[in-house]
Amino acid sequence: PASAGARDSFNVQWPGLVNADGSRWHYLDTAATAQKPQVVIDAMARAMGADYATVHRGVYARSANMTLAYEAARRKVAGLIGGQEGEVVFTRGATEAINLIAQTWGVQNLKAGDRILLSQLEHHANIVPWQMLRDRTGVEIDICPLTDDGRIDLDAAERMLTPAHKLVAFAHISNVLGSLLDAERAVALAHGVGALILLDGCQAVPRVSVDVKALDCDFYVFSAHKLYGPTGIGALWARADILDAMPPWQGGGAMIDRVTFGTTTFAPAPQRFEAGTPAIVEAIAFGAAVDFVAGIGLNAIHAHESALVAKARDALRTTNSVRLFGPEDSAGIVSFAMEGVHPHDLGTILDEEGVAIRAGHHCAQPLMEHLGVPATARASFGIYNDESDIAALVRGIERTKRIFG
Ligand code: PMP
Repeated sequence: PASAGARDSFNVQWPGLVNADGSRWHYLDTAATAQKPQVVIDAMARAMGADYATVHRGVYARSANMTLAYEAARRKVAGLIGGQEGEVVFTRGATEAINLIAQTWGVQNLKAGDRILLSQLEHHANIVPWQMLRDRTGVEIDICPLTDDGRIDLDAAERMLTPAHKLVAFAHISNVLGSLLDAERAVALAHGVGALILLDGCQAVPRVSVDVKALDCDFYVFSAHKLYGPTGIGALWARADILDAMPPWQGGGAMIDRVTFGTTTFAPAPQRFEAGTPAIVEAIAFGAAVDFVAGIGLNAIHAHESALVAKARDALRTTNSVRLFGPEDSAGIVSFAMEGVHPHDLGTILDEEGVAIRAGHHCAQPLMEHLGVPATARASFGIYNDESDIAALVRGIERTKRIFG
C-alpha cells in the first residue's frame, strides 16, 4: 500500500483520479481519453488567465508572447514525433485531421478507379471520411484482414496492394486490441506500389516512441486528449512537400495571404490549414502535455504499460469465464468478454466497485463484426495506473460472476 505521503502527491498530480473520499479511482479508460496531470491543468489555466490574448495579430506584447507560446507548442508537438514544426497543423483532433486529408489531398489527388487500403480494425474516424471521399470521387476501398491474434495482416496487404492503390491508412496501434503495427513494413509495402501511407497514431503517440522521419510515413495524426492534454486539439503531421501541395480546406481569417473580392491568395502551410482564431489555450496546454510525457519518456511509459498488460492478461485468464482478445504483447489495451455477461452490465458493476472500463464497440463496429461480438469490455492503461487497478478490476469481475451465478 502506498504511504500517505505518496498518495497525497499522487492525488495532487492527478486530481481527476481522486474520489470524493480521497481514495483512488481505478480509471482504466485511458484509451478513450487520458486524465490530466496538474502541470497541464496549470498551463491551461495560465494561458486562459494571466497570459491570455489572441495570436498572430496583436501588436502588443501579451499577444506577441501568446504567438510565441502557440508556435512553441507546435514545435514541441512536432518534436515529439520527430517532425519539423512547419509540418504540423493543429486540428480539433485526429478525426478532423483525417477529414482534412481526405477533403484536401484526397479530393485533389484521387479519382474513380484509384484504390485505398484500410484494415479490418480501423476506428470509424479512419473509415467514414474515406467512404465520404469514395461517394464524392468514385475511389474504391479495400479492407486488409487481420491475423488470428488481431494484427493487421501485412502478408495479406502485400498480396492485395496494386499500383491502383494511392493510399494506405492504418492504425499504428488498435484502440480495441492494442495491436502494434509493424509500421516500417507497412510503409515499405505502401511505397512499393507508389501509394502514400497515413498512420492513425491516436493510441500510439501516448504509448510508444514515434519518429515519423525514421518511419518515412506520409501522414501521421493524433489527438492531444489521449496524450494527457486537453480536448479540442490534435495534430496532423504531413511530409512538407505533400502539405505544401495540398489545397486549403476551410476558408477564413489567418489562412490567407491577400484577400480581394476578386481573388484570394493563401498563406503557406501550416497556416493555410488553420482558418480562424485557433484553439490557442488548448495548443499551449498540448505543448505542456508533450513536455510532461517527454519528461517521463515514452520508452518508460511503454515498459510500464506493457508490464500492466501482461499482469492484467494473466489475472483475467485465471478468472476463467473471460475471453481475451488481441495479441499477448498488446500495447496498453486489453479487450475481453465475460461469458454470459454483457459488457455494459460488467461495466456498470465495475463502476460500483470504483473501476472505470469502457464497454461497447469502441467506434470500431467492423472489428466487432470480425470478432463475432456486439461489444467488448476494454481496460486500458496510462502512466498513473498500477497493480492496485488490476486487483480492483479482478475483484469486480469476481463479484460480477457471483451476481450472474
Ligand atoms: N483513431 C483511434 C485509433 C482512436 O482511438 C481514436 C479515439 N478513440 C480516434 C481515431 C479518434 O480520435 P478523436 O475522437 O480524438 O478525434
